[in-house]
Amino acid sequence: MAELTLDDVTKVFTEDDGNEITAVDEVSVDIEDGEFLVLVGPSGCGKSTTLRMIAGLETITTGEIRLAGRRINEKPPAERDIAMVFQSYALYPHMTVQQNMSFGLEESTEMNDDEIESKVADTAELMEIKELLDRKPSDLSGGQQQRVALGRAIVRAPEAFLMDEPLSNLDAKLRATMRTELQRIQDDLDVTTVYVTHDQTEAMTMGDRIAILNDGILQQVGTPLECYHTPNNRFVAGFIGDPSMNFFEMDVDGETLVIDRFEYPLKPAQQEAISGRSDVVFGIRPEDIRIKEPGGLSDNYQFEVTVDVVEPRGDENTIHLTFDRSVDDPVTFTATVSGLRNISAGDEVVATFPPDSIHLFDTDSGVAVHNRTFDSEDATHQVL
Ligand code: ATP
Repeated sequence: MAELTLDDVTKVFTEDDGNEITAVDEVSVDIEDGEFLVLVGPSGCGKSTTLRMIAGLETITTGEIRLAGRRINEKPPAERDIAMVFQSYALYPHMTVQQNMSFGLEESTEMNDDEIESKVADTAELMEIKELLDRKPSDLSGGQQQRVALGRAIVRAPEAFLMDEPLSNLDAKLRATMRTELQRIQDDLDVTTVYVTHDQTEAMTMGDRIAILNDGILQQVGTPLECYHTPNNRFVAGFIGDPSMNFFEMDVDGETLVIDRFEYPLKPAQQEAISGRSDVVFGIRPEDIRIKEPGGLSDNYQFEVTVDVVEPRGDENTIHLTFDRSVDDPVTFTATVSGLRNISAGDEVVATFPPDSIHLFDTDSGVAVHNRTFDSEDATHQVL
């Protein structure tokens, strides 16, 4: 177990025609001893390249990686004391589960056969695969193979685990079960873990902290709730959360934001946050918008809108709404309401955009200039 530090780590690939691709661009992050950090971002953002540099499977162009305070840039993978689990389980097909799990220990440690057997038995117990030890990988389900692959990494008791989309070959139900399992195991073992995924649900539910990458650049590192409620920029705000945050590109008119049929009055702190700007991007999460029956607007944060489409999800409905359906290019947005709510396309309703729930972003850079009210202490207590 050890802390893992990435210090201005950059990876530039040079293609055959001399073209240079910066896959990872000056990424710095300190991963604490025993921490579970999820590296998340869209396809091609540099997640796997980052992980491969930590593992030693890819050279580092510039910057430094330290494990337990020691530079590991030049160390070959086998000497890094890091175990990696890939999306493909990569088990040896001709070996039994027992042999698959013992192999690494036989190759890389001084342990005798009895010690190895006892280690494998303990790990098999932890992974709940004891009854599978004599089977070959071809006789196992996908979920069981993944458990064995994880067990094989765990049995080595490495300083750190690296996991590259390890659950993506599993069906949705098994993935959800394995998510919880992995958290439990990581909690028990307390091994520093970097987990790569493009799935923001996995990131939100599994990570102590999440690191969000886009185009090789680190956008934010924080607890899932911090990234969700206080995003650094529009990219993070849009990437985390499903359905995604609503964005409106609006003009600033004194103390009010304006587009077409939508005018939004700002509170003094919000006005101050955007002072000097002529335009701004307004953001609000679907679940923060409140929907009520038509019948009078009681304040300036309420709007008469029309339901366009209702998507039932069971526990909740995702509803798509417009300010004015009669215009060619109506302003649309998404809200979520209880799945028990009786609501249909064509309904006229009143939407409230509570002022303490809104976000404001710079139109050009996307940087957040104002975030919703969020008290992480409060949120933690509520979660507990
Ligand atoms: P995915 O989720 O699709 O696996 P990723 O976030 O893991 O994506 P990487 O595989 O790290 O992304 O790739 C980052 C960028 O580097 C991409 O633009 C990719 O095309 C490029 N890249 C990766 N490996 C190489 C290589 N060996 N040579 C050239 N370019 C590469």
